Amino acid sequence: MPCYRCGVRQTDPERGKSPWRRGVVHDQLVLICPACQESTDWTAELERCAKCRSAHLIRRLGQVECLDCGLVREPEAVTLVPPRGDTALADEVGRALDRLLGRA
Ligand SMILES: [Zn+2]
Ligand SMILES: [Zn+2]
Repeated sequence: MPCYRCGVRQTDPERGKSPWRRGVVHDQLVLICPACQESTDWTAELERCAKCRSAHLIRRLGQVECLDCGLVREPEAVTLVPPRGDTALADEVGRALDRLLGRA
């Protein structure tokens, strides 16, 4: 995953403690490269913990967790998965197309 600010790619993620920092922006986990961390406002866009105001958050299993105080926040009621009906309809249309084109 590249740096969300400048797009540079992570080079040595495995050796030792990575200098890259994780954060959450708009409910998405992002990485910030060491160069961008030198700008004073690099945490300005990051979401902050509601309890301790830390920007040291990660997103996992659909939740946002504070790495400083451990507060876990359920994601807002936003679903990116289309409703079941739409998927079924899409399948139906796909099958109809296949029949039409003789691919069934
Ligand atoms: Zn960067
Ligand atoms: Zn916290």
